[in-house]
Amino acid sequence: MLGNLSTNFWKWEFRCPCKKCAHKKVRVSSLLLFKLEMMITIIDNSIEVHKPVIVLSGNRCEEENRRIGGFPNSAHIPKPDGEAADIKVKGISSIKLGLVAEKVGGLRIGIAKWGIHTDVRLPSPSKFWVYKGKKIIYSVDIENESLAKFYEIVMKGG
Ligand SMILES: [Zn+2]
Ligand SMILES: [Zn+2]
Repeated sequence: MLGNLSTNFWKWEFRCPCKKCAHKKVRVSSLLLFKLEMMITIIDNSIEVHKPVIVLSGNRCEEENRRIGGFPNSAHIPKPDGEAADIKVKGISSIKLGLVAEKVGGLRIGIAKWGIHTDVRLPSPSKFWVYKGKKIIYSVDIENESLAKFYEIVMKGG
């Protein structure tokens, strides 16, 4: 193990960025970390160079979640473990990264311009969503089984 959370991840990457949480314990679901590590393995095997997965947002306390306009009861809020990570990989588009997450399985996936949201909660009931400006389009209303198909339909919709 290299990182202090898992092979490739460190606690500081998942820490809530607010001042109050500076000394709070970072808690991340081991299932989520396992799936993120699987994503790195798939990416490394497909492009033969190691590309780090950059964590844009891991844990968030209730206050921080409200401050940035996250969902109430977001999977980013540790209860007791954080179950979500917003991630990006340099040189890989959000949809491509999303398809890697889909391959791993057992992840809910939100596609955005900045990267993707991943979490290990059960589909409730959407498996996927797309952040389109301020709007969120959910897969359950369109196509809930294939991310590629869902994304194509959303993008065609303009
Ligand atoms: Zn905080
Ligand atoms: Zn997120």
